[in-house]
Amino acid sequence: MKTAVSRRTALGLGAAAVASAFLPLEVWAASPKRRVVVWSEGTAPKNVYPNDINGAIADALKKSLPDWEVVTASINDPDQGVSEESLNMTDVLMWWGHKRHRDVKDEVVEAVFKRVNEGGMGFISLHSSHFAKPYKRLMGTACTWSEYKADGTSVSITVKEPDHPICKGVKDFQLPLIERYGEPFAVPEPEAVPLDGVYTKPDGTKAPGRMGLCWTIGKGRVFYFTPGHETYDDFFRPEVKLIMANAVKWAAGTDRQERSTSR
Ligand code: ZN
Repeated sequence: MKTAVSRRTALGLGAAAVASAFLPLEVWAASPKRRVVVWSEGTAPKNVYPNDINGAIADALKKSLPDWEVVTASINDPDQGVSEESLNMTDVLMWWGHKRHRDVKDEVVEAVFKRVNEGGMGFISLHSSHFAKPYKRLMGTACTWSEYKADGTSVSITVKEPDHPICKGVKDFQLPLIERYGEPFAVPEPEAVPLDGVYTKPDGTKAPGRMGLCWTIGKGRVFYFTPGHETYDDFFRPEVKLIMANAVKWAAGTDRQERSTSR
């Protein structure tokens, strides 16, 4: 694990390096990097996402969150990429799934739920992960949209709550293609909807669709982001990359006084 290595490295560097960091060694060693795990199931088309969706998002996060440990995980990894040990070191778990929701084991779902609810880990659910088992467990509702149409619809995404941390630096933007998820969305009333949207269907008619929704579940924060269909390049777009980085920081509770997660 990278954090452990960097801690060992820190111990080996000795007093000079520590002094140059202006931090007593104990403080430094006791404050490991925050950790985000980006999870996906390896089913995105390779011509759009050569390293799957988790790889694309992780590459962007490594650049925008240099002081974070950014890890990718997949359903194909041991323990489906989310062992209890890993969860206990993780501040935020970001999840993209579509075709393999049913393969996710119930014990994984319970471990994620517990880590959010009791441990304060943040959880970010992307696009078709509205039906991901851990997200449904957190919401406790059906999490259905009224329709799902990848028919050439575009979307205009608006910053609805400019002061919300997830909107920091984000301006209104368009996605030329989006899979249209029709309202209503069967989830609990969100505490915030920082990003809203209006779809334009191929025939020119408009329809509303919320694009970014926030909840607090127990001790943890949960964010859902509507775009991210696997045949579109959303996660390579600068606006989406910025939202992902902001969402990670918000979900970790970096705007709170104390560190949100227990270790
Ligand atoms: Zn989709």
